[in-house]
Amino acid sequence: MEQVVDIALSPREASDPVLVRDAAAEEAGMPLDVVVATRILKRSIDARSKQPLVRLRVSVSDVEQAEPGPPPAINDVRSGEPVIIVGCGPAGLFSALRCIQHGLRPILLERGKDVRARRRDLAAINKFHVVDPDSNYCFGEGGAGTYSDGKLYTRSHKRGDVGSVLDLLVDFGASPDIRVDAHPHIGTNKLPAIITAMREAITAAGGEVHFNSRVIDILVEGSIARGVLTADGSEHRADSVVLATGHSARDIFELLLAKGITIERKDFALGVRIEHPQAIIDRAMYHCDVRDPYLPPASYSLVQQVNGLGVYSFCMCPGGIIAPCATSNDEVVTNGWSPSKRNNPFANSGVVVGLSGSMLSSVPDEMHGALRGMHYQQDVERAAWRAGGERQSAPAQRMEDFIIGKHSADLPECSYPPGIVPYRVDQLLPEEVAVRLREGLKEFGKKIRGYRTNEAVVVAVESRTSSPVRIPRDPRSLEHVQIAGLYPCGEGAGYAGGIVSAAMDGQRVADRVAVRYSELR
Ligand SMILES: Cc1cc2nc3c(=O)[nH]c(=O)nc-3n(C[C@H](O)[C@H](O)[C@H](O)COP(=O)(O)OP(=O)(O)OC[C@H]3O[C@@H](n4cnc5c(N)ncnc54)[C@H](O)[C@@H]3O)c2cc1C
Repeated sequence: MEQVVDIALSPREASDPVLVRDAAAEEAGMPLDVVVATRILKRSIDARSKQPLVRLRVSVSDVEQAEPGPPPAINDVRSGEPVIIVGCGPAGLFSALRCIQHGLRPILLERGKDVRARRRDLAAINKFHVVDPDSNYCFGEGGAGTYSDGKLYTRSHKRGDVGSVLDLLVDFGASPDIRVDAHPHIGTNKLPAIITAMREAITAAGGEVHFNSRVIDILVEGSIARGVLTADGSEHRADSVVLATGHSARDIFELLLAKGITIERKDFALGVRIEHPQAIIDRAMYHCDVRDPYLPPASYSLVQQVNGLGVYSFCMCPGGIIAPCATSNDEVVTNGWSPSKRNNPFANSGVVVGLSGSMLSSVPDEMHGALRGMHYQQDVERAAWRAGGERQSAPAQRMEDFIIGKHSADLPECSYPPGIVPYRVDQLLPEEVAVRLREGLKEFGKKIRGYRTNEAVVVAVESRTSSPVRIPRDPRSLEHVQIAGLYPCGEGAGYAGGIVSAAMDGQRVADRVAVRYSELR
């Protein structure tokens, strides 16, 4: 018989499988000598009380439990109908894998390089301040998700099957722990191998993956998509085009606008990346002087309404690094990542203000319209670049100085590889953002002991939190509202935010493409 029980253990006990088995058997009222299998189904950390606990949902059984079977065999799609997928991020990759399940042959076109070659371009940003506009932290195999933290938490449960995304990641090499952890993450060091394994599965099935293939036009006949044109002059033709180019493909937004293909302005968020010594966050969240070595580096999630808009922490990276995420040489953009062990001495997170269209006051009137938010982002990113000395160095200010409006004479150590330079970040940001961030930080300081401190540094600018544009699609067919066979997909189209939701959107789109092909046949 199998029983499922909930138990709470100290972090050290929870790390010991024997103690977990004993506690679960006791809770289930099952004598120890009959227990033959124990399996953790869910794991979360409860740090509300003075002594943090690990809460576990455990299955205990007195009969052998079946081992999970091998991953499902991959179809051979060499003779399948072609589907063009533009963009090799989570949306594009998961769309391609789902196409293969449907017997369709995905042709992935990616402007950047494969994950290994991409590393050299990341090093060039970090060391030489040179951004390759086709290969950087946002562009290249695996998309923006490759050199990320790999946090897999999503609120988008209604939009698809989170479990199937996590299962696939495990099949391609992620730790099975991601299936049970309340806030699963993979880590930058592990993601490239997983992405490589996905690509190898796609090509082994008969799909194609083309790197250095920037799409510069969408071939449309009447109001039907027929394929795409890449920068090297090649035409790729198919009856379905999945557009999964991410939130940073500004040239794609401009292309659609120029072609008269409807796009819409979308709300987004903008702010800064804030970094504390990890020890400050550990002390506050775990109510201790020194973190219990059996506990992971602590994280936080903060939100505050200020003057009608939300100020919130975003993409918190415990034990992480602030990443330079510009996609062109005249802008500075930050984000964050962490290795699987999260063992760097800093804790960073985006702290951003959710902006609605009416708030974008600094954009001149002639720029209003669908690209208004994009131009607003771009203006702030360019101002950060100028303030940083026209290189990838980021303007920065100590937190308390940011709050009281004072120049920081010097700055604390910071993980951002290209380096930070002292600057009045409070003056660099649009007023509607700076004012709200200041008030938000004051409130956050009341919520987390030690959060408001000059040991923390405010780094500009966190601007690519989500897409400033939506590419509208029919809610049923998921095709573009005007162009049959064109499938806006993932974060860039405005239908996802984060790795898991982008992956699920890729799967949903592939399902609709399969329906369309079955109707066309
Ligand atoms: C540093 C960093 C850390 C992050 N950490 C996390 C995290 O921990 N958890 C999380 O959930 N999310 C995280 N994110 C966000 C996450 O990566 C994105 O939400 C996700 O990757 C979106 O997936 P996507 O496939 O829609 O788009 P993208 O991942 O942006 O992929 C789009 C792809 O399209 C390609 N492309 C663009 N234009 C063209 C063109 N014209 N022709 C051909 N190809 C093109 C790009 O090169 C890119 O590979 C992070 C992002 C960054 C930058």
